[in-house]
Order: sequence, then C-alpha cells, then structure tokens
Amino acid sequence: MTPVKNAAKVEPMLPSRAKLAGPPPRSGQAATTRRQLLTSSALFAAGLLTPRYGALASRGNPFTLGVACGDPSPDGFVLWTRLALEPLAPDGLGGMQAPVPVAWELAADDAMRQVVRRGTVEAVAPSAHAVHVELAGLEPNRPYWYRFTALGEQSAIGRARTAPAPGDRLDRLRFAFASCSNWQLGYFSAYRHMVEEQPDLVVFLGDYIYESTISATSAAAAHIVRKHDGPTATDLVGYRNRYALYRTDPDLQALHAAAPCLVTWDDHEVENDYANQWSQDMRVTPEEFLRRRAAAYRAYYEHMPLRPRALVQAQTVRLYGRARFGDLVTFSMLDGRQYRSKQPCEVPPSRRGHVARDSCSERRDPQRTLLGEEQEQWLLEGFQRADTAWNILAQGQLVAQLRQKDYSGEVGYWTDAWDGYPAARQRLLEAIAQSRLANPVFIGGDIHSFWVTDLKANFDEPRSPTVATELVGTSITSDPPPYGLIAKVLPENPHVRYFESRHRGYVTVDLTHQRMAARLRIISDRQDPNATVSTLKQFIVTSGVAGATEASD
Ligand code: FE
Ligand code: CA
Repeated sequence: MTPVKNAAKVEPMLPSRAKLAGPPPRSGQAATTRRQLLTSSALFAAGLLTPRYGALASRGNPFTLGVACGDPSPDGFVLWTRLALEPLAPDGLGGMQAPVPVAWELAADDAMRQVVRRGTVEAVAPSAHAVHVELAGLEPNRPYWYRFTALGEQSAIGRARTAPAPGDRLDRLRFAFASCSNWQLGYFSAYRHMVEEQPDLVVFLGDYIYESTISATSAAAAHIVRKHDGPTATDLVGYRNRYALYRTDPDLQALHAAAPCLVTWDDHEVENDYANQWSQDMRVTPEEFLRRRAAAYRAYYEHMPLRPRALVQAQTVRLYGRARFGDLVTFSMLDGRQYRSKQPCEVPPSRRGHVARDSCSERRDPQRTLLGEEQEQWLLEGFQRADTAWNILAQGQLVAQLRQKDYSGEVGYWTDAWDGYPAARQRLLEAIAQSRLANPVFIGGDIHSFWVTDLKANFDEPRSPTVATELVGTSITSDPPPYGLIAKVLPENPHVRYFESRHRGYVTVDLTHQRMAARLRIISDRQDPNATVSTLKQFIVTSGVAGATEASD
C-alpha cells in the first residue's frame, strides 16, 4: 500500500490528541512538557496529512519517529531517536542518505532552559540514522528532559528519569506494562491512556510490532482498521519499515516521550513462535532463519533505547539484564526467545505452538531450556545477592501451568509458552523458593488476556506452597483467545485466580514497600481512535505474601 493511504488512515486520530491535555497534570512542569508534546505531535500529524511523505521531506523535519529514553540507571540512561524524512522509504533508510550531525541536549527543567549536558553525534545510513546517546554521571532519582536538533529542526521534548542509588530508600514507584500491539487490528488508545497515568517507567513485554501482515483472504482481515506498510517482514528493509510505521503512531510517540522504558521482546519482533535458531516452519533451515533473525534483531536495536553494548555482534542482541530502583525493586528483564530449546512434539511441517498431549515426554525433558543455560545461571545467581523489597521478573509469556484440552478433548499443554518447558520452570521456581527471594512477581504478555495466578511449587498439588505471584497483561490491540474455551478449563487450574480475554488494555502498578497494587486497565474499543479507559479489576499483593488478591475498593 502507499503512504498516501496510510496518511488518510491516521487522520481520524487527530481529535484524540486534544485529550492528552485533559487530566490535571501533577505539576506545572508536567503541564509544560505536555504542551511541548502536543505541539510536536500536532506538527507531526500535520506532516502526515500532507498528500505524500515527499511533502514532509520538503518541510525537512526528520523527527517523524519521535524520541525515547531507556534503561534508566542511578547515573544515566539512553536517549534515542532515528532520523527519517520519509519514514517508509522503500529502501528502509527513511529518506536519508548522507551522514547528519544530531545535537542533543539534556536539561534540568521541562522548558529546556537549564541545559546540563549537550553533545553531537553523527547519524549514518548503516544504522538507518538511528541515534543512541548513553549518558552517565547524572544525579540519581530525578527527572531530566531532553531534545534533539538536526537539519535545523527540533524533536519533541522527552522526559527521562534516573533511578535512585542502589541503597537509597525509594518509597514508591509507579509503572505500567504493555504487550502485543498489532497496528492492523486497532488504534493505540491504550498507549495514550498510559501517558495520562504519568508512570515513572513503562515496561514493554514483547510483540511491540507484528512482523506478519494479515492476508486479505484470512478471517482476521475483517478486523483490519489500518494496514501495514507492506508484506510480512523478512529482511532488514522490511523490519526497519515495520518499526518506522509503528513509531509514526502519535500515541506510541507520546508514551515514549513521557517516560523511560525497559524492553524485552517476544516472538513477533522476528516471527510467530520462533525458538532460537528455529523458524516455526520446519522447512526453513537454521542457517536461513538466523539470517532473518539477525535482520530483525538489528532493526529492533535500531528502534529501541538500548545501550550500544546490547548490540553484541551483528547476529545477536544481549537483551537480558537488571534494572534496580533504590531499595524498592529490581526488574530482571528476561529474553525468552533467543536461547530456548525448540518447542516439543512438533507437528510437521510446523513447529508452532499447539496443545501437546500429556503423553509428549519430550516436553518434560530436563535438558530443555527456555532462557538458555547462560541466562538461567545469571538469573539464579542474582537471586543470591538480591536485596530489594520486591523482585519483578519481566518476560514475554504466561508462566503458570495451564492444563487444557487438545482438539480431541485430551489433556494437554501449550508448547510455545512455559508449559512447553516445565522442567526449566521448575528449576526457576525452586531457585526462587530456596533463595527466599523477596516478593517475587512475574509479569508477562503474549496470550492477549489478563491472568492473575499463583505460581506453585507443584502445580498438580493445589495445596503446595505458592512460590511467586504472576500478573499477565492483555494485548494493546491483538486478537484474544476464545474466552469460553479457556473459561471451561479453569476449574482444572485452581492456581489461576483471574482470567479475562474479552478486553484490550494494559496494567498499571503502584508499588510501595508494603504492597503492590495492580490495576487491569481496559479500553472501550480498539477500533475507536478516541477509545476511553476504565479499570476492570484491581489486585493487591501484600509484602511477604505470595499471590494477589482482588481489591474490594
Ligand atoms: Fe502477541
Ligand atoms: Ca507472542
């Protein structure tokens, strides 16, 4: 499809921008930031409304993909932007060719008057004119604001934040987590409402883009509200333009500008249900698939506020790591795709997730791994030294066992999530129990539905101790699993405290030393660019007690 059609599809979103100004800001500073955001969004939107992206190029604003801040530490973070005069240029280079100097400024105030750091980096075509500025030596536990200038134009002003020093008391952290935003199936209203909640931190848990383009003949085609930029992404150009398309979304841009983020991926950043070097299509050789994966990983790095050291080599990105916020919480960001064993009991020619019968003994093979040996060891060693009040394990998928039925009514387990790797899950939960890790809470996505579960020492024994709490967020827009089918198997899974697949949304968490309050937030309609938001349920985790309980207020 052409950029012209794309621009037309974005138009209905414009009235919704005004809503950003709606809720009362926490402070005067926030109000100014928000105004700045609005101004740049409006300019950007105006650009999109020109008849062609070429017209945008003649105006010359290269900040069509927004700005972002990531990986906050006590003394710094990463600032990101990518220059693109023509975001969907067919060569994947965003209408850019020559190297462009990009000036960046970091300020102590939201009006960018007290600039505390500044510098210039060069944006070059081999990295698609993406810029990653890694800052260190800043003051802990405070907000900063940043802005880029290039080709005589300024970016939006983004809000950054350093973490408190490791031993420092932090009373409260508010964060939101999100997963599964399929451009084709809805507007990103959920992201817009996340901005309004002014989180200190946003955690993206995967399926940030969808590589696959819904074919016109499939059943899902009836749900398409806006089209992808092209066919299913399989090479560097395809992945770059897919990220560029998603990043033109004003709600997603506003979210990145509003708060720093931590990120991990799931499968759709590369290919549905891939595992390590294995495509879901068994006919694709690992060699062929690794070429595709390398392109996808590179495009991911280019579009995320990751530290340059994350780009280990051309082929891999080291995504897993820890982010600590004072004495309150440590996030272990986990990579559940890059190092895993392939799914068990595959059904040729497909390796994709399916309900494998209990008789599939490969599933229980203790040699099989989801995190890979090195990451698993790193994670487990970290448990020994952990000393924050809460420990959040952020990863892509449902961790709890879900005993379900295959098409013939026999008991089985989904092979693509942790149920496909029960020995690895057991090792992890046992290590948590043995190390007496304080307040372990898993957060996840992938399954396009809300889940609140008790992670059990032994899932087949309901009276066995609850080792950790699990919260899974629903999708931003992606299609849900059938409610009735899952509701039917819940009685066989008493460790599931809550399940709901009929709403799109996200989760906001208000964390103090005493308790975690998680609000399951839902939007009114993914197809409505002006969708409203409400709270479906609130769950509380009390410090010292594994498992969440529904709040009555
Ligand atoms: Fe998804
Ligand atoms: Ca997924």
